[in-house]
Amino acid sequence: MTLIEERRLVEVRNVRHHYGKAGGDLLVLDDVDLTLFDNEIVGLLGRSGSGKSTLLRSIAGLIAPTSGEIAFPRGPDEPATTVSMVFQSFALFPWLTVQQNVEVGLEAKRVAPAERRRRALAAIDLIGLDGFENAYPKELSGGMRQRVGLARALVVDPSILLMDEPFSALDVLTAETLRTDLLDLWSEGRMPIKSILMVTHNIEEAVLMCDRILVFSSNPGRVTAEIKVELPQPRDRQDPAFRALVE
Ligand code: ADP
Ligand code: MG
Repeated sequence: MTLIEERRLVEVRNVRHHYGKAGGDLLVLDDVDLTLFDNEIVGLLGRSGSGKSTLLRSIAGLIAPTSGEIAFPRGPDEPATTVSMVFQSFALFPWLTVQQNVEVGLEAKRVAPAERRRRALAAIDLIGLDGFENAYPKELSGGMRQRVGLARALVVDPSILLMDEPFSALDVLTAETLRTDLLDLWSEGRMPIKSILMVTHNIEEAVLMCDRILVFSSNPGRVTAEIKVELPQPRDRQDPAFRALVE
């Protein structure tokens, strides 16, 4: 029994999503239910075309579900939840430098230029791109491009990070390095992120990174099973009780 009730950060309830006009439409999500708690990394595993990206885009607020509810519970004094997203294809602007791409993350917010620059450089530094501020995406490797994608997501100090197959466009070694770096930042508490929801096709990656794995069925997409990962997860390794056991 836990003494403190687990805090819910995201509640997806009965979400349906159609593409196209009524008649010839495609039902992609059907009655999706999903809860994201504080301090967890959750994996979303499912076939291609099952609606995982659609679900993430809905949670990010990039599209509106046809029906259902996506809520971000918070206390009365807490600021609105900030959600950031990282894309498989990086989604960088090729005509902008690394720093400019990261500053795009702040565009919707009214942040003064000096502050924008300060925050962009801090995010670039955090993610290991120090010295590449003025480079263009085409001058960077895939791994570095995805670091730019991560910096752009982190620059707004999100509490929820959504990642849509963030490592699948990268070779195995690059993916592993980036995963490890991200997990280090997470376990050391160097990002303000409270929880991560990540789509992946890679079950090994899901087991290594996630506290829970949600299995997504297709036609239409829905969460049909949950796997709890019982391995010590990155955050637990910082726990004094866990350390006492292993040290
Ligand atoms: P996944 O990420 O699981 O591969 P997606 O959410 O990308 O699945 O897509 C789910 C289904 O919705 C697919 O059949 C896809 O072709 C379709 N789809 C995705 N985006 C759109 C769109 N903007 N307009 C019409 N159909 C779409
Ligand atoms: Mg997808």
